[in-house]
Formats: sequence, structure tokens, C-alpha cells
Amino acid sequence: MYFKYIKSDSIKVRNSRIQGKGVFATKRIKKGQRIIEYIGERISPEEETLRYDDESMDRHHTFLFAIDEKTTIDAGRIGNDAKYINHSCDPNCEAVDEEGRIFVEAIKNIQPGTELFYDYAFEQEEPLTQELIDMYPCHCGTKKCRGTILKVKKKRKSKKKTAKKRK
Ligand SMILES: [Zn+2]
Repeated sequence: MYFKYIKSDSIKVRNSRIQGKGVFATKRIKKGQRIIEYIGERISPEEETLRYDDESMDRHHTFLFAIDEKTTIDAGRIGNDAKYINHSCDPNCEAVDEEGRIFVEAIKNIQPGTELFYDYAFEQEEPLTQELIDMYPCHCGTKKCRGTILKVKKKRKSKKKTAKKRK
């Protein structure tokens, strides 16, 4: 794979038509290029619960990236533009876990002006209920849209390799 980082002026944060802010390409980004690292505080599940009480939120909106059962990256207080990348069920990027660090890489050639997306694929052990779908909705509008950013029982870790092999 080709891991050359893009230049930092190749992306820009601006309002997204999908949700809030989004990250857009300002220059052409080639498939396989590493775009940005997901930066934030590394916190435990206990700390995550203290900071974010899911039951008080009618819609899930945080800047968390779960690496494994022990560590979550919280980009809410300390973070970079990676936290503004929106979810799509048919994305042009993917989040790659490299020894506990998360990098967003292009999986398609991306033209200037295009919004960047990756599949959040929030792991969900239980079957999806309407309540869960309402709490974690997806508005990506692609043909592949699942209607939610949740994904049942699929590890996001090394998703790149395993997801392709299963097909
Ligand atoms: Zn979707």
C-alpha cells in the first residue's frame, strides 16, 4: 500500500450537507494516501462513561473513536480536523488501526471539493432496534445506506483486510 501523507492544505473543514461540519478535499487525493491521524486524548471506558452519559443524549454526537475495550480516543477537547470527518455507508476513506493509532486513508481517488467519509461502523453486539437506529442515525444518502452508523458484530480493527476477505 501507498502511504504518502497528503499535504495539510489538501483538506479543509467546512459545513457539510450531511451533518454539522465536514472535511473536504481541496486538492486531488490518490487512493491509498494517508490523509490524517485521528488525534485526541486516550481514555478508559470508565472515563468515557463519566464524560458522556448516553441516556441524556437523544442523538449520539461525540468525538470518540473506540480502539478496543480498554482505550477510546476522545477528540472532544484535544483533537485535530479528523474529528470532523463524517460517516458514510459507502465511504471514500477508511480508518486504519496501526498499533493503536488511527489513520484515515483514501480508498478511492478523491477529487477537489469532495467531502471525505469513512464508515464509523460502531460495533453493536445486540440486534439493532429502532431505538438504537434512531439514536445513531445515518443520513449519508448513498445506495448502500444502512440507516445507522452502527454495524452489528464487526470489528473495526484491521477492517481493511478482513472485510475484503469475507466478500
Ligand atoms: Zn448511511
